[in-house]
Amino acid sequence: MAKIAINIATGSLQQEEIIVGIDLGTTNSLVAIIHPETKQAVALKEHDSSSMVPSVIYFDGQSNVTVGDEAKKKLISSPERTIFSAKRLMGKSYNDIRNRSAAFSYKIIDDNAESLVKVQVGDKFYSPVDLSSYILKELKHRAEHILKTPVNKAVITVPAYFNDAQRQATRDAGKLAGLDVLRIINEPTAASLAYGIGISREENKVIAVYDLGGGTFDISILRIAGGIFEVLSTNGDTYLGGDDIDQAIVEHWKKELGISTEKIAAEPSLNQALRLAAESAKKQLSVTDSYETTLEDYELKISLAQFNTLIQPLIDTTIRSCKSALKDADLKASEIEAVVMVGGSTRVPLVKKAVGEFFGREVNDTVNPDEVVALGAAIQADILAGNNKEFLLIDITPLSLGIETAGGLMDVLIPRNTKIPAKASRQYTTQVDAQSGMRISVFQGERDLVEHNRKLAEFNLSGIPGMPAGLPKVEVGFLINADGILTVSARELRSGVAQSIEVKPQYGLTDSDVEKMLLESITHAKDDIAARALAEAKTEGEQLLKTTERFLQKNAELLTKDELLQTASAMQALQLSITMNDKDLIQKKTEELNEISRPYAERIMDEAVAGAMKGKNV
Ligand code: ADP
Ligand code: MG
Repeated sequence: MAKIAINIATGSLQQEEIIVGIDLGTTNSLVAIIHPETKQAVALKEHDSSSMVPSVIYFDGQSNVTVGDEAKKKLISSPERTIFSAKRLMGKSYNDIRNRSAAFSYKIIDDNAESLVKVQVGDKFYSPVDLSSYILKELKHRAEHILKTPVNKAVITVPAYFNDAQRQATRDAGKLAGLDVLRIINEPTAASLAYGIGISREENKVIAVYDLGGGTFDISILRIAGGIFEVLSTNGDTYLGGDDIDQAIVEHWKKELGISTEKIAAEPSLNQALRLAAESAKKQLSVTDSYETTLEDYELKISLAQFNTLIQPLIDTTIRSCKSALKDADLKASEIEAVVMVGGSTRVPLVKKAVGEFFGREVNDTVNPDEVVALGAAIQADILAGNNKEFLLIDITPLSLGIETAGGLMDVLIPRNTKIPAKASRQYTTQVDAQSGMRISVFQGERDLVEHNRKLAEFNLSGIPGMPAGLPKVEVGFLINADGILTVSARELRSGVAQSIEVKPQYGLTDSDVEKMLLESITHAKDDIAARALAEAKTEGEQLLKTTERFLQKNAELLTKDELLQTASAMQALQLSITMNDKDLIQKKTEELNEISRPYAERIMDEAVAGAMKGKNV
């Protein structure tokens, strides 16, 4: 599907549409591309400014949104309208972050502790997906401005420890920003690619990627074989990074100069000025062995030796994480064949020294640690675009392939642009007791609801022996051979009952059909996210109704009359909210039913356990 585009600035013809690599960082974000002439990965920047865009968003209360350096300046003057570290909130509920809510100066909504968090600015609410999409939009605009050509396709990186929900949230943010996210890749994988590790299919290696950023630290152990990156283990601390180094220096100065905490509290700008001075000191101490400056009447001084003593405990913490990661991967430090350094804070010489000593080898630090992840994402993007001849993609799946799951949702098994031959499998289970058959419907497309995608095939796995809901394990496997023929199989693992079907996935789809489907997935991104959320809420509500019903059938006589009445009315209300298709109401009613049933469910469980214990002879 090669397209011809004309670069308006240079008048030159571009064979392929550009695909950018994006590092969506907690502290800083940036875009990189493969330079069309030099074929080298480069970070995009305007003339003499930095390639990095602070991941900070400022809402002015009218309807203007500012992202980057300008927004960062508002952190002091309008903390409640200035959002930083939105990445920490991706895919999280209020319960997940409740212990850390003090670390955020803006308002995080806590009225529904179990559903996904929202941020409140004035009278508006933003999800972490919305917030990230503002950053991505800014990056897209910048890239378009610099390249003077539209940018619609991207590879975006995420930490290796991100779960499916967090990856999906990142993908959704990309869609909202008008980007077709061709792939989400792990940050350590990208960093490794930037060092050329894993580019060649012959390479077999185990490596460590040490990433110390502004507010997070992570270590990943990767095994690379045949062009595939496998994460063997990850470890780290999502609240440890360069900010803590700055804070350590501030504390040092406060103590040395006798600046009291009360004085700081009365003068927030002094604290901020101290922090900025501390960051300059830290950066300078990467190259010289002392730093001094004056701030108001204070003489701020620090030597490299003092600095090293201050940060030693922090470094020790990261080394302990490295140890745990090795242990989890069942490896010795000597088995690691390369150590890649990522993140601005790895510029600190003592960090490099400690990491090098721990792994017993020289670390890879020749690529700019701020840019290394974005550069690797650009390399991956180039591979996907088919420009990298050595890694030439023989063939790829033009659209995602998956099956329909509860609520009419598309569950992707093979994402679009996967190299073929390809293989994937996933386990599913039944929804009702004694369910003897399972319908497997195969779809192709990028939309969240299968009704908007293309149905390719459907078959029934029958003869599942009677089991309670949730017990059968049905493994659905997708296999695309080198000719592009998809075989879908389903097997119930406990009984061995199996069934399969052959499909030709691209049948009847022209290039422009594929393009149209992709375009639709972008235009409908917002509706799709809402539709998925509603479908998920409905499924959860229905599931709860079923379990409650089953529970009542067995235990009705153990409940008080009040409990029975309350439960019945809460069930009715939930049922009604489901028929009304109101997501927030469904969630509320699900929660209410849960609240009512939890106490007696626990009580009856306790009694059952006590009964079982009594019956046991020791
Ligand atoms: P993230 O991945 O979390 O977005 P980055 O990799 O951009 O973060 O790292 C940002 C951190 O790197 C900041 O704390 C910044 O102060 C720190 N940093 C940048 N340059 C240096 C340097 N020369 N010495 C020490 N720390 C640095
Ligand atoms: Mg980073």
